[in-house]
Amino acid sequence: MAQQIRAPRGTRDLLPEEGAAWNRVESIARSLAERFGCARIDTPLFERVELFARGLGETSDAVEKEMFRVGGASGSEEERAEWALRPEPTAGIVRAYIENGMHVRPGPLRLWLLGPMFRYARPQAGRYRQFTQWDVEVIGDPGPMVDAELIDLAHRFYAEVGLRDVVAHLNSIGDGVCRPRFREALVTYFAAHEARLTADSRRRLRANPLRVLDDTLLEPELAAGAPRSVDYLCDACRAHFDGVRNLLDALGLRYVLDHRLVRGLDYYSRTTVEFYVAGREGQQQALGGGGRYDGLVELLGGRSTPAIGFGLGIDRTVLAALEQGAPVHASMPLVAVVGDLDDLAGRLRVAGTLRDAGLAVRPDGSPRRLGRQLESAAKAGARWAVIIGEGGSEGPVVLRDLESGEQHEVAVDAVAAAVTEAGLP
Ligand code: AMP
Repeated sequence: MAQQIRAPRGTRDLLPEEGAAWNRVESIARSLAERFGCARIDTPLFERVELFARGLGETSDAVEKEMFRVGGASGSEEERAEWALRPEPTAGIVRAYIENGMHVRPGPLRLWLLGPMFRYARPQAGRYRQFTQWDVEVIGDPGPMVDAELIDLAHRFYAEVGLRDVVAHLNSIGDGVCRPRFREALVTYFAAHEARLTADSRRRLRANPLRVLDDTLLEPELAAGAPRSVDYLCDACRAHFDGVRNLLDALGLRYVLDHRLVRGLDYYSRTTVEFYVAGREGQQQALGGGGRYDGLVELLGGRSTPAIGFGLGIDRTVLAALEQGAPVHASMPLVAVVGDLDDLAGRLRVAGTLRDAGLAVRPDGSPRRLGRQLESAAKAGARWAVIIGEGGSEGPVVLRDLESGEQHEVAVDAVAAAVTEAGLP
């Protein structure tokens, strides 16, 4: 036997039994994005490495350790240095915004994207090399209302999916005016405890001390004593953060202040947010996260434009939903079309009529005896069978309930009504 080829490490096949849960979660995301007035955008799955290096920061994990590089067909060193699979959607969306001159459109622009992201990290439970994110970005809105609105949107998403106990972690990391003082304070504090830092943190301490705070291996006592960004906010950042918090309070949206929430990417400013199932924070398994990135458009060559967005992980959302026993949308009841006459065109014609009426249909194309066809329809999960008889595809046909075995004759055109009347779908 030929050697079996396996899926790459850190990837998973979405198998049919999970498909219904994914469909349901993705359609909630799409529908909510529309209800929040967002328009769909898609960008290439690969971009120039430089876009991510500039956009996410050279010292972000995504750039420093997890970039999934791709070469052309010849795979030369040069090509491999040039392209990478996207680790997150924001940099590509902002590139598209600038490249397509979208700043002239009436703003703020509200955009959404749903698709795969790639990070070449060590795979573990809930952490894959290819995963799916639902992303919402608002470009051209300084907030604070839109910050609260997006947190509301994420909460609604988890609520509609049926996840309980989702809590938002919130912080403000200031802006170009006040962050330098906070950075300095962090460097001074951590430099005094340098020996207790991990090798990664020691290396990053001076280049990007904020990253020391979100080092998962940072000693909790050391983290607890560290300077807090909220104590260094300038007046404008303080007013913005108070504005966001007041709105969340007014809407009754729960959040906890999380001083370590600085996010791994350099482009964030002011509001940062992450969503967790309460009690699961310790496992570093955020369901989603995001924040404000008022400096990114300019950093990538556009005009200075405020913006905010989040990415919610679909893989972890589906996992958590299944763990909590959230409802998994049942697929439409399946109708099998069978018959013992050698009339395959007739089966396809009847299947077509039923599909036009909105039913999910699988015709049996085999020459097996009718009994065998009915048996395999039931095994394949069909709830109903339409049996074509002497009348051919013009009917009448027999509609059989495969659970109870009851059946009766009915006109082809009346099958959909009869199925619906029985309570399904
Ligand atoms: P991040 O930009 O890292 O905060 O990612 C946003 C969300 O995407 C996370 O909260 C996760 O739900 C999801 N996510 C990020 N990385 C992975 C991964 N390697 N595997 C699965 N989901 C991920």
